[in-house]
Amino acid sequence: MAVLHNPVNRELLRKQLMEEAFHRVTLSFYRYVRIADPSAFRDQLYQEWHALGCFGRIYLAEEGINAQMSVPEHIMDAFLQNLEQHDALRGVPLKIAVEDDGKSFYKLTLKIRPKIVADGIDDPAFDSSKVGRHLNAAEFNAAMEEPGTLVVDMRNHYESKIGHFEGAILPDVDTFREELEQVPRLLAGQEDRKILLYCTGGIRCEKASAWLKYQGFNDVNQLHGGIIDYARQIREHGLPNKFKGRNFVFDERMGERISEDVLGKCDLCGEPCDHFTNCARKACHQLFIQCPACSERLQGCCGPTCQDLLAKTSSDKTPTDEAFLDEASSDEKTTPTKLNNPNPGKYTKGRIPKH
Ligand SMILES: [Zn+2]
Ligand SMILES: [Zn+2]
Repeated sequence: MAVLHNPVNRELLRKQLMEEAFHRVTLSFYRYVRIADPSAFRDQLYQEWHALGCFGRIYLAEEGINAQMSVPEHIMDAFLQNLEQHDALRGVPLKIAVEDDGKSFYKLTLKIRPKIVADGIDDPAFDSSKVGRHLNAAEFNAAMEEPGTLVVDMRNHYESKIGHFEGAILPDVDTFREELEQVPRLLAGQEDRKILLYCTGGIRCEKASAWLKYQGFNDVNQLHGGIIDYARQIREHGLPNKFKGRNFVFDERMGERISEDVLGKCDLCGEPCDHFTNCARKACHQLFIQCPACSERLQGCCGPTCQDLLAKTSSDKTPTDEAFLDEASSDEKTTPTKLNNPNPGKYTKGRIPKH
């Protein structure tokens, strides 16, 4: 029988990844496309990609596919050929990570979901295909310079606090669902201004731009390929970089450095830091920013309480390789709550710049 799951435990898988003698490429892609039988497609892709040695986290729904992957460099041609063999994947644009140690994933997971991004929209009159104008990096930079332009970060507060575009509105939200509720309210009265949206890889803006147009905004634009592809384009074409700090990503790297600016602060001591971690105590698993000194002092825990509890129950240790959540399912159930500690890091609240 074909193997449709990972047979060995994650510690072993992680060890195997670290010992690999070849390089891997971290890439991502998504497509809104009709998939009649996501479950059958899932099994087929699992068998083919497992045979190629691909790792990653892939979501399939009737509305499309959303994939973050780690592909062995030496089988890249075979992987691209494989994509061409599937109607749903032929010609899909790939985004290649800019800061990559090749250790972004250590296993292959394909899951079926009701939607490829949880948006909470339940309005039969809404047509999600009427998206905004797609801008490349040069066009996005130029549009940012135009007087009256509003730049809106469509990601969650913990993503924007370690990196964002200059002058962007950073809504204080935990989920994409909340973001879609809050942004039209934040922008009310600005229906005729130029609006620029951006997110990690572009997938959330596909939904958000259509949603804002549906809410009566007339000049809605979005960064094509998101921050990931913006970073590639500015490097390749020598363009000025208007994104400061790190791009939060949903794999083991937890972020790609785009500029040298450190925008975040350690949630415990307030020192400049943009390194996210999960609390070392599994039952807590809190996502927070922690500097190396605080990490050492608290043994990777979010505070003394977790440190004490962890010392009593060593089996409660979080496997360091367990990703805490992902972009596709960033809903109430999986989103980290804000850290409850005496010295919380501050992040910028959503604000509309006066023009
Ligand atoms: Zn600290
Ligand atoms: Zn904790």
